[in-house]
Amino acid sequence: MSIRTRIAPSPTGDPHVGTAYIALFNLCFARSSGGEFILRIEDTDQTRSTSSSEKMIFDSLRWLGLDWSEGPDIGGKYGPYRQSERLDIYHDHAMDLVNRGHAFYCFATPDELSLMRQDQMSRGEMPRYDGRGLKLSNLEIQEKLSRSEPYVIRLKVPEEGDCQFVDLLRGKIVIPWSQIDMQVLLKADGMPTYHLANVVDDHLMEISHVIRGEEWINSTPKHLLLYRYFNWDMPQFCHLPLLRNADKSKLSKRKNPTSINFYKEMGYLPETILNYLGRMGWSMPNQEEKFTLQQMLDNFDITQVHLGGPIFDAEKLDWLNGCWIREELSDAEFGDRVAEWAFNKNHLSRMIPLVKERVEKFSDVVPMLSFMFSGMPILQEASFEHKKLDNESVRQILQYSSWRLDTVTEWTRDNLYQELNQIAVSLNLKLKDFLFPLFIGVVGAPSGPPLFDAMSILGPDIVRARLRSALVAAGGASKKQLKQWESDYRQQAK
Ligand code: GLU
Repeated sequence: MSIRTRIAPSPTGDPHVGTAYIALFNLCFARSSGGEFILRIEDTDQTRSTSSSEKMIFDSLRWLGLDWSEGPDIGGKYGPYRQSERLDIYHDHAMDLVNRGHAFYCFATPDELSLMRQDQMSRGEMPRYDGRGLKLSNLEIQEKLSRSEPYVIRLKVPEEGDCQFVDLLRGKIVIPWSQIDMQVLLKADGMPTYHLANVVDDHLMEISHVIRGEEWINSTPKHLLLYRYFNWDMPQFCHLPLLRNADKSKLSKRKNPTSINFYKEMGYLPETILNYLGRMGWSMPNQEEKFTLQQMLDNFDITQVHLGGPIFDAEKLDWLNGCWIREELSDAEFGDRVAEWAFNKNHLSRMIPLVKERVEKFSDVVPMLSFMFSGMPILQEASFEHKKLDNESVRQILQYSSWRLDTVTEWTRDNLYQELNQIAVSLNLKLKDFLFPLFIGVVGAPSGPPLFDAMSILGPDIVRARLRSALVAAGGASKKQLKQWESDYRQQAK
């Protein structure tokens, strides 16, 4: 059997380091045994998927050097590789399951289902689908269909017994069927859910090994049923441990920047990021900390992955990046890389309008723009002292702005102005006063070049990270405080 693995990201946000980590292990597993590593875009959630997010996935994986041999952008003989272009395939497969009695129509309305759940909870039961669609007669189904009543297709799940499957790293996993819901396979709008599309594609694309994050373990019983109902061989499943913050919680952008773009914009080498991700749960046989992708490929053995949650530690990453820079880059390469990173004509030309009107000589440029080429400004609580804003208002402004900027999808000067101005209005603050903590957080000084232009050039990853770090420097927010702010913020957003 030839080995084929895949990464199947959903294009619904920033390209996540977790995606790169899973891609790296899939690539190493396939290539170290002469197999293929492919990229599939799982964009069936049409409300959250965007083409800009898809492009960022391509760009960031390529920047890291994680190339795929088949994918939406390069084609391949199992295409199309974008799920939104395969809808007929999923529809036909769902209908095939219905015709063979493995899946069924459900016409329950959202209101009926929420009532059902409320009843279950009031009886102290776990809320779950109660199988009402299974009780409909053929005639009733035909009548409802002829009246064009909206429906979904659900998966039949055994009522008794356990689901058992073998995970490459974890061995036998047993999950009682009673814990598995009768999953929707085809939604009322005709779109497939992740479960149906994922299994159909893994089979049709001849994926031999499904290597993914451990958050998918509980979905595997549904996938196993689908393979069984379709009479298909199952791929080998392998669930990798999730990346974690220093406090062992799941890696989240509240505690660590998670976008690959952030690491690129901060000036990490792609080689270091790959090397560091390679050390998440795996190590070289000689325990060497620094290694190239080729060395990882030469030594890769997936069975050596440790299941203890690997910690994504920013300080360790800094240390490793320093080693790479010192030990692997010649002076000429160092110069080229720095220029390519941010001192290139393209990037510099965007900043000229910010300073041209304000300088008298070229030597004024660097002090004015140093924040454009730096990481997090070094700030203390005292940096935020202001004659009109007390510390609580400062922290509130930083938190509200962070929340708001997390939702901005089109990062343009005008959008940033609009979004932030709305918060200033809702807080009853003059824009000038409102902007003070943002200047300190983003620029590191109470004034500077036009802030919205500067933020648009710095980009979402750096700005969000600076605001988060500014909030911590200004004193942070207790859980209680956050709760209060969250409800006030929501109130204002209405
Ligand atoms: N689309 C899923 C994701 O976003 C894929 C999960 C899987 O690999 O099965 O991670």
